[in-house]
Amino acid sequence: MIILKNHDEIEKMYRAGQIVKASLDEVEAAIRPGVSTWELNEIAERTSLKLKGKPAFKGYRGFPACLCTSINDEVVHGIPRKNRILKEGDIIGIDYGASFEGYFGDSARTIPVGFSPKGKVADLLATTKKALELAISATAEGKFVRDVSEAIENYVAPKGFGIVKDYVGHGIGTKPHEDPPIPHYVTRERGARLQVGMCICIEPMINMGTDEVQLLEDGWTVSTVDGSLSAHFEHTLAVTEEGVRVLTI
Ligand code: MG
Ligand code: MG
Repeated sequence: MIILKNHDEIEKMYRAGQIVKASLDEVEAAIRPGVSTWELNEIAERTSLKLKGKPAFKGYRGFPACLCTSINDEVVHGIPRKNRILKEGDIIGIDYGASFEGYFGDSARTIPVGFSPKGKVADLLATTKKALELAISATAEGKFVRDVSEAIENYVAPKGFGIVKDYVGHGIGTKPHEDPPIPHYVTRERGARLQVGMCICIEPMINMGTDEVQLLEDGWTVSTVDGSLSAHFEHTLAVTEEGVRVLTI
């Protein structure tokens, strides 16, 4: 069931989104070779608490941390650990959610560790980021979820990258995940019609190789089956009377 939000609720979601943004900004600033993913987790938590936000993922369905940290061939839901140390040349996806007065925000970005990407790595990161931007541009009242999916697929597929199908975007509100699902590829379904008051997260996960992913033994981390690199960018947005508002930038 899709739950529409009124103006006041969207304001709270904006506050949550800004806490998420600030927390990710602090984490990004701390990313360098030698830092552990656990330190990044602590930075995210501390920043949110300082801004009166509550980390959303801590304990969510049993997740053992606040921040998801997914390195190289890890796609999503990587668990921060004290002994997981970033190295020069890694890429790390940082995915974070927080709530403010019971309303949630959710955002992700993928950051190179201590290097300026070139060639195919640069292309993967730029393509994933651009796919999210195109999807946001395709979001409008009266359009359908498929229009958003199509914007991503039409841009990414010709480049030969794999669009992850097993994990999709979602509605968001008083829960971190609500209806409707937002696939990043075209399905047979037209999907929900976008209406004023809908709040959604779009979060393309793009692999350098095939789209196949697997769940690792820790029960959380998802990685590419072929070992290829994966990138992930996400924003939370609201469809309003005045147009689409991105809540996490
Ligand atoms: Mg997320
Ligand atoms: Mg999400």
